[in-house]
Amino acid sequence: MSQPIPATLIPGDGIGPEIMDATLAALDALGAPFVWDRQIAGLGGVQLAGDPLPAATLDSIRRTRLALKGPLETPTGGGYRSSNVRLREEFQLYANLRPALTIIPGGRFDKIDLVVVRENLEGLYIGHEHYVKIDNDPHAVAMATGINTRAGSRRLLQYAFEHAVATGRKKVTIVHKANIMKALTGIFLETGLDLYEREYKGKFELDTVIIDACAMKLVLNPWQFDMLVTTNLFGDILSDLVAGLVGGLGMAPGANIGKDAAIFEAVHGSAPDIAGKGIANPTALLLAAALMLDHCQLTDMATRLRRAIDDTLNVDKVRTGDLGGKAGTAEFTKALVSRI
Ligand code: NAD
Repeated sequence: MSQPIPATLIPGDGIGPEIMDATLAALDALGAPFVWDRQIAGLGGVQLAGDPLPAATLDSIRRTRLALKGPLETPTGGGYRSSNVRLREEFQLYANLRPALTIIPGGRFDKIDLVVVRENLEGLYIGHEHYVKIDNDPHAVAMATGINTRAGSRRLLQYAFEHAVATGRKKVTIVHKANIMKALTGIFLETGLDLYEREYKGKFELDTVIIDACAMKLVLNPWQFDMLVTTNLFGDILSDLVAGLVGGLGMAPGANIGKDAAIFEAVHGSAPDIAGKGIANPTALLLAAALMLDHCQLTDMATRLRRAIDDTLNVDKVRTGDLGGKAGTAEFTKALVSRI
């Protein structure tokens, strides 16, 4: 028996509770040792506690250092900041891990298995933006400041390189734009090359590519890549691009990793258009749960979960509507649990 692992559970908004129920059923069937502390956030947080990120939720994650999170809506109006961005900042979740793996074969891009590691806290996403008024136009000029630090680049690159070694990746590609943004993305490239020379040479192959060329190569021949590691903005774009290669956001899990906490989630949003209809596809959150099992070194359970998802989709051909099937969430979950 594995030791009990306390973990925070945030079902989230929209389809969140439906796909979370499916994921919990699968984790129960696996015998995963998580002891859940259920908390609210997002729209639910505003409605029940007047805050999209209530103190009790933050305290819970501070205590457990581990969370599985459904999608959160940022309420429009009221000046609320995105709960997802706040969580990243609060727990210094500097690494965003976005694996893209073909699960349903026969699409335009078959047999894709790559991972994007994105810096999650720095770059052009730090929110230092303002307008300059000229004459009567208050928005005559828009300015944004990006900040990348040596230390921030280094910890992210170190995480990526360690992950590459631990998971047997053969090649890591640093994605940058140091030909134009010589300082802002040059520091990331330079730090990566230096770290590789000093500590990782020979453990995997290291390559570098400029972001625009990378986007083209990913569409022409994605199989040439294994792991992409990059700064915040480029990582945001590329991680959705690679999700598109394997069937879209409905199949994409994400992990946000920091020194003191880790939060696992589906990449898609709360899908308000289908919420409550019982037709949501829980695969992305299930794959996020598999990443969480990996993180807790419960590798056998993670493998069993991924295999059960694969068998349900490809052997039993039980699929939800977004994948062209007819199954509702409950039917999919039942089929999945019977495969565990
Ligand atoms: P969305 O991802 O919620 O939905 C886009 C489309 O994909 C919709 O048609 C939806 O029905 C479909 N879809 C998404 N997930 C699905 C699933 N699991 N099964 C079947 N169909 C699925 O994107 P959106 O509509 O732009 O955003 C809705 C809300 O979610 C917004 O408030 C947004 O801020 C929030 N959001 C949250 C997160 C997060 O918490 N990580 C991420 C993205 C968006």
